Amino acid sequence: FAIHYFVPLPMVTILGRAKINLTLDVLGLRDDGYHEIATVMQSLALADTLILTRQEEEITLRVDLPGLEADERNLAHRAAALIQKECGLRGGVHIDITKRIPVAAGLAGGSADAAATLRGMNELYTLGLSDDELCALGAQLGSDIPFSLMGGTVLATGRGERLHRLADFPATVVLLAKPPVSVSTPWAYRSYDEHSSVFHPDNASFMDALEHGDRDRCVRLMANVLEPVTEAAHPVIADYRARMRAHGALCAMMSGSGPTMFGLFAEEQAAADAAEIFRKETDAAVHLTHTIGSDGEQQKSRRN
Ligand code: ATP
Repeated sequence: FAIHYFVPLPMVTILGRAKINLTLDVLGLRDDGYHEIATVMQSLALADTLILTRQEEEITLRVDLPGLEADERNLAHRAAALIQKECGLRGGVHIDITKRIPVAAGLAGGSADAAATLRGMNELYTLGLSDDELCALGAQLGSDIPFSLMGGTVLATGRGERLHRLADFPATVVLLAKPPVSVSTPWAYRSYDEHSSVFHPDNASFMDALEHGDRDRCVRLMANVLEPVTEAAHPVIADYRARMRAHGALCAMMSGSGPTMFGLFAEEQAAADAAEIFRKETDAAVHLTHTIGSDGEQQKSRRN
């Protein structure tokens, strides 16, 4: 006969996934200084890997990317500290991050790490926080974190923290190309206010097309109001868009406030060929990935 003990395990491995914006609209400026947005966000397979290990009280961090802060400023560190404070938790954690998502790229890499840390701490210390509670904690740290916790295809409104799950976007190959320029998100929103004419996405029609699983119609309805803003300062955006289209992308668009451009492709081979050309002919950081649905292995973690 066997005796079963419940021994909390000392380590969890968890993924923090990148996102792209399939649509991004700005509806206005709020009294609190933030912009009211309506954006359809989509999780990608591209992910950072976080290994969380219990330790006494301290929070320590290792990131494999030189130059990226590995202290209290890192969003993963801040997420762990928030859990300690809000849950009255004495225990600490060592967080080891393998970074794959390009940094400051419009792909919400920091938010992905923060979301993974919140979920990971919940498991590591069996805190029993619900998804809603995790999202409320996440929203305190950054507008994109609740989405990163939820994953899949989601309409985000408000500052981006009010979420409504949508039907999964049909599985699609995604080519990411980040040009070597930096774009500050606050700058992009400020410049948007001074930009006179932009093309607004029709989110209602996009969601209707999504409901019908009609990818071609979705693609025709995709737009990001920040794209002309960032493009005016960085002509490389237009160059990458033209290259992606010329090499068979169904559509090519900027994610978030940029500068990463993404292309959606119907065929894996066409995307791989385009990736090769970008690597040869441009200075872009190039990643080939695909969309992840709500039932994907998405935010799940693995106990070691
Ligand atoms: P968003 O799309 O949400 O605006 P982003 O993809 O443009 O985000 P991030 O990769 O999240 O940008 O990085 C923005 C800044 O956040 C970085 O310049 C970095 O200094 C800081 N940061 C803090 N923690 C992290 C982290 N774990 N990973 C990446 N950046 C981090």
